[in-house]
Amino acid sequence: MANEFDPVTLRHTLHQTPELSNHEALTARTIAAQLRQFGFHPATDVGGHGILVTIQGAAPGPTTLLRADFDALPIEEPGSLAYCSQHSGVMHACGHDGHTAALLAVAAELRHTPPARGTVLLAFQPAEETGEGAARMCESPALTNAQIDNVYAFHNLPGFSQHQIVVRPGTFACASTGVAIELYGKTSHAAYPERGISPASAMTGVLHTLTQLPDAYPDANSLVTLVHAQLGEPAYGVAPGQATVMATLRSDDNACFHAMKADLIDKVNTLAARAGLTVSVCWHEPFIAAENSTHHTQHVVNAAQSLGLAVHRLTEPMRWSEDVAEFLARWPGALFGIGSGEHHPQLHNPDYDFPDAILPTAKALFTALVAEHHGCITG
Ligand SMILES: [Zn+2]
Repeated sequence: MANEFDPVTLRHTLHQTPELSNHEALTARTIAAQLRQFGFHPATDVGGHGILVTIQGAAPGPTTLLRADFDALPIEEPGSLAYCSQHSGVMHACGHDGHTAALLAVAAELRHTPPARGTVLLAFQPAEETGEGAARMCESPALTNAQIDNVYAFHNLPGFSQHQIVVRPGTFACASTGVAIELYGKTSHAAYPERGISPASAMTGVLHTLTQLPDAYPDANSLVTLVHAQLGEPAYGVAPGQATVMATLRSDDNACFHAMKADLIDKVNTLAARAGLTVSVCWHEPFIAAENSTHHTQHVVNAAQSLGLAVHRLTEPMRWSEDVAEFLARWPGALFGIGSGEHHPQLHNPDYDFPDAILPTAKALFTALVAEHHGCITG
């Protein structure tokens, strides 16, 4: 029976037991157990809690990797759902439970109707939210020397009509990173500031540098958002000896993004040296831009049209980041969106819940892509 697996039930199970990035042991066990129940022999602990299933076709042919993520977020779920999170302070607020349930539905179908030719890899990926999981999986022995012809993944997208397929050749989601800049001088009595080394004016220089940074790269869409700043301590008697500035940097162009980061380090070092300060610059949660091949984007469009699904072509990339970019930097493919509903709560909102109605859409689209590359799947 092809339909005995119910992805909605599985999705609700995952939703009840969300786990933060790098702590997804239980979720990984649930996924692996389901795959074994289908008769597969999944490779586990692939680059952390990652899971990889290899499905061989009867004849030689191309290799296609389909990827879903499965980590959750440090957000408290209000508790109105029957299947709401049982883990305090953690919830599936980005729909990764749905992405994984959809890929398990693909696995359920492929066990009965394997590809006619070539190989299909199903990659279940941990630690997407922190930008670590994809690179670790790609660098794991299971994938590091793999020859992959096609990579596909989707993200559900609130704000777009339900079931609409959202595509963009080139950059789909931006590169981004957090940066923490620490300036160290020397405190002194506030009555004698000249006896210390205050980072105050260098700090204003750093703030200015950050906000002006994208202006040097007019050919790319770049954005710097200041997120936190702190100077000294709230004590009237003390001239400050330390400052912290935190920001996020984004760009739709990987080359520009790297140049912007190098430029920032140069300018911050110059400001610190001029003021006699020492400085540290730390990068956090780095993501490269997710770049789609035109060819694979067209495959997604073809698959959507074959299913009668509406296609929306983005004029600009998403400003957020997706670490499937690491797969797409190594092998060609496409990340696409599936609309969650125009008025659906936004990703990372506490009232967000993955719309189960799009599970069959995601499964059908993935299956149609497999059919395009590997021959018709019947059954
Ligand atoms: Zn997400």
